[in-house]
Amino acid sequence: MSLQNPVFIPGPTNIPEALRKACDMPTIDHRSSVFPQILQPALAGVKRVLKTEAGEAIVFPGTGTGGWEAAISNTLSPGDKVLAANFGMFSAKWIDMCRRHGLEVQVVEAPWGAALPVATFAEILAADTGHEIRAVLATHNETATGVRSDIAGLRAAMNAADHPALLFVDGVSSIASMDFRMDEWGIDVAITGSQKGFMLPAGLAIVAVSRKAVAAMERATLPRFYFDFRDMLAMNPASGYPYTPVVGLLNGLKASIEMLEAEGLDAVFARHAHIADGVRVAVGAWGLRFCAIAPDARSDTVTAIVLPDGIDGNAFVAHAETRYGTSFGAGLGAVAGKVFRIGHLGQLSETQALAGIATAEMVLADLGVDIALGSGVAAAQGVYRSAVKGHGSARAAA
Ligand SMILES: *Cc1c(COP(=O)(O)O)cnc(C)c1O
Repeated sequence: MSLQNPVFIPGPTNIPEALRKACDMPTIDHRSSVFPQILQPALAGVKRVLKTEAGEAIVFPGTGTGGWEAAISNTLSPGDKVLAANFGMFSAKWIDMCRRHGLEVQVVEAPWGAALPVATFAEILAADTGHEIRAVLATHNETATGVRSDIAGLRAAMNAADHPALLFVDGVSSIASMDFRMDEWGIDVAITGSQKGFMLPAGLAIVAVSRKAVAAMERATLPRFYFDFRDMLAMNPASGYPYTPVVGLLNGLKASIEMLEAEGLDAVFARHAHIADGVRVAVGAWGLRFCAIAPDARSDTVTAIVLPDGIDGNAFVAHAETRYGTSFGAGLGAVAGKVFRIGHLGQLSETQALAGIATAEMVLADLGVDIALGSGVAAAQGVYRSAVKGHGSARAAA
C-alpha cells in the first residue's frame, strides 16, 4: 500500500493529523496532576458520544474484542445462557468467545447479509418466561456484511416481553460515525475500539456500562482481572488506574471527541450517511449487488459489494493494493472471496470517497468486470454535489 493514499478498509480508519499529534506525547506520570486532565475529559466525552448519562464509561488498553470479553466476563457466570445471532463474522466471533467462556449460547442462524432477526429474538424472549436468558448480544453494525441492525427495535421487543436480560451491543463500527443511543436503547454494555469511529490507532477498548450491568457485576463469577470493571469504577473517579494507562491514546481520545463535537455529532452522522449514499449509487451504477439484503439495512460506515461469479474478492483486494497502493476490505468468513468492502467510517470526506470509488472502478475493469469506467464516479458526484441532508430521525432510529 502507499502511505499517501487513504485506506478504504472498515477499520483501522484514516487518522487525522491532529489526532496523530495528540497521541504523540512525552512520558506522562500517570500519578501526576497531568493525567486527570486527560482521563476525565476522555471518559466524559465517551459518555456524550455514546449518549449515556446514567452509565459509566470505562476505557481499557485493548481493542473491540477486549470490550466483548469485558462485557461478558464482568456480568455473567459459567453456564449462563445468552441469546445471539450468527449473521456475520463479528457476531460469529462473539458467539465463539461466549462458548470459550463456558456460556450456553442460544444461536439464531441468519443469512449473512440479513439484519439481526429482531422478530425471532422477540419470540424467543417472549417464550422464555423463566428468564433463563441472562443477556442478549447484538452487533449494531456488522462490518463483514455492511449491515446495520435495529437496536431500538430490539429494545422494544425486550420490553414487550418484559424480559430482564442484559443487552450488550457491539458498536465497534458504528459508534462515533452513526447515531448510537445507549440510554434511550436501554443498552447495558456498549462496546467500541479506538481505531474505528474515533479515528485513532488501535489500542483502546472503549465501553460504557449501565447501572444494571454494574449490579450484575457483583454477582458474576466468570474470572476476570485485567478487564475487571470493579477496579476501574473504584479508581477512575480519582483518576486512578489499576495498571499503566495508555496515556497517549487516551489523550488522542480526548482530542478525537473534541474534533467530533466541533463538527457536531449530528453533522458527523449526516456526513457518513451522505458519503455512504454516494458509494451506494456508485455500486448501483456498476450493476453490482450489495451483500446487505434489505436496502434500509445498508450501513453508513461500510459497504460490502458482491462480485460477479468468477471474480474473486481476494484478487480484487490484492490487485488494488499492488497496482494502485490502495487498501479495500476483503470478504470474511462465509463471504470470503465473494465480496469486497469499501470502508467509509471515521475520518473521510467526499473527495476521499471519490478517490476510493474511482480506484475500485479501475480494479473492477482490470479484473474484467463489465462496467463503464466513470459510471460509479459520476453517480457519486451527483450525490456529492447535492447538499448534505439533515440527519433524519427515521434513519437515526434504526
Ligand atoms: C472491528 C470490529 C470488531 C473487532 O474489534 P478489534 O478492535 O479488531 O478487536 C468487533 N466488532 C465489529 C463490528 C468490528 O467492526
